Amino acid sequence: MWNSPKVGILGGGQLGRMLVEAANRLNIQANVLDAENSPAKQISFHDGHVTGSFKEREAVRQLAKSCDVITAEIEHVDTYALEEIASEVRVEPSWQAIRTIQNKFNQKEHLRKYGIPMADHRELVQNTPEELAKVGEQLGYPLMLKSKTMAYDGRGNFRVNSKDDIPEALEALKDRPLYAEKWAYFKMELAVMAIKTKDGVLSYPTVETVQEDSICKLVYAPARNVPEKINEEAQALARKAVAAFEGKGAFGVEMFLLEDNSLMLCEIASRIHNSGHYTIEGCGMSQFEAHIRAIMDLPIPAKSLEIRQPSIMLNIIGGSATDTHLKAAEAALSIPNASIHLYSKGDAKPGRKMGHVTVTAATMHEAETIIQPLVKVVDDIRA
Ligand code: ATP
Ligand code: MG
Ligand code: MG
Repeated sequence: MWNSPKVGILGGGQLGRMLVEAANRLNIQANVLDAENSPAKQISFHDGHVTGSFKEREAVRQLAKSCDVITAEIEHVDTYALEEIASEVRVEPSWQAIRTIQNKFNQKEHLRKYGIPMADHRELVQNTPEELAKVGEQLGYPLMLKSKTMAYDGRGNFRVNSKDDIPEALEALKDRPLYAEKWAYFKMELAVMAIKTKDGVLSYPTVETVQEDSICKLVYAPARNVPEKINEEAQALARKAVAAFEGKGAFGVEMFLLEDNSLMLCEIASRIHNSGHYTIEGCGMSQFEAHIRAIMDLPIPAKSLEIRQPSIMLNIIGGSATDTHLKAAEAALSIPNASIHLYSKGDAKPGRKMGHVTVTAATMHEAETIIQPLVKVVDDIRA
């Protein structure tokens, strides 16, 4: 049996909260570094938490002192602090992996060396209209202008439809380091959760993700009407991409399925991921437990990562009023087989992830029928 290990988590948002839920069941103490009343701390009472930010060096040092292994629920952390503590405590995944991945341009340059297919892209150095116009000639329109850093939920992306959009695009992403990506004409977005262990990389089945305004709205597990061959190829691509990084734990791999059925990587997250929330109810072992087992070198039977029942995950995203997410949750109470997860983040803000609901059923068609009224409620709230 393991010896009451302590895991330190940088970040106490909803991902940290669900990590804590998994750790609690294994009698593993999770020490969370974040603000006093963050979602993860609310469900975990002990004196090991640290108040502060995962961007503050001193706070990270303090967390390291009380833990056997340090991990992160977010990639936008101070990796120089992680580099420093890595001599005293295990950091999983490695600070090098997090540092490369947190800059989406560097991430792609790194993955290119491993032959991972991606949309063609160009770095911007000066962020001038002339420079972007030149890139536009090379990549064609539309193109996606992206912030290299601090990007999430599409905040950091701007679709440039033609040369005329250039001033607006540069204004929207001003003061950020930028690169541009060729438009990917995908027929579907896919994602795979990969779990990197001391022995290799495991993967969950391929799921389908639906983004609205660049924010994940729905996840279908397994991906609908995707042949087994593509399911296998997407998992293989995810494992290959994740193998390019040092360290252990869960990685979320987002992909595009193109018209000709080829796959392209969209991006990697060095952490548990929204596209893997369905694993809590849909699989024998959740991505959160798999992450904890991976970083602690505990066994993960591959069979536990298979889907037990078709699942659909619906995000509850903040709408026009501060309590709209509660209306969605209330509606979900009457939906059969709906597991409700509220994150206890306080007041909703438009576009903020406030919770999610997962429905499982004997068939995907049945799950779709069951969740449909709730999708409508969520749509009405956001309208
Ligand atoms: P996340 O919250 O997943 O971290 P992010 O802000 O890092 O999101 P991306 O994942 O790069 O942003 O892009 C968000 C969404 O924008 C994608 O899921 C996809 O729908 C769309 N998108 C991104 N890049 C392209 C592209 N090159 N061509 C077409 N659509 C794209
Ligand atoms: Mg991202
Ligand atoms: Mg993304």
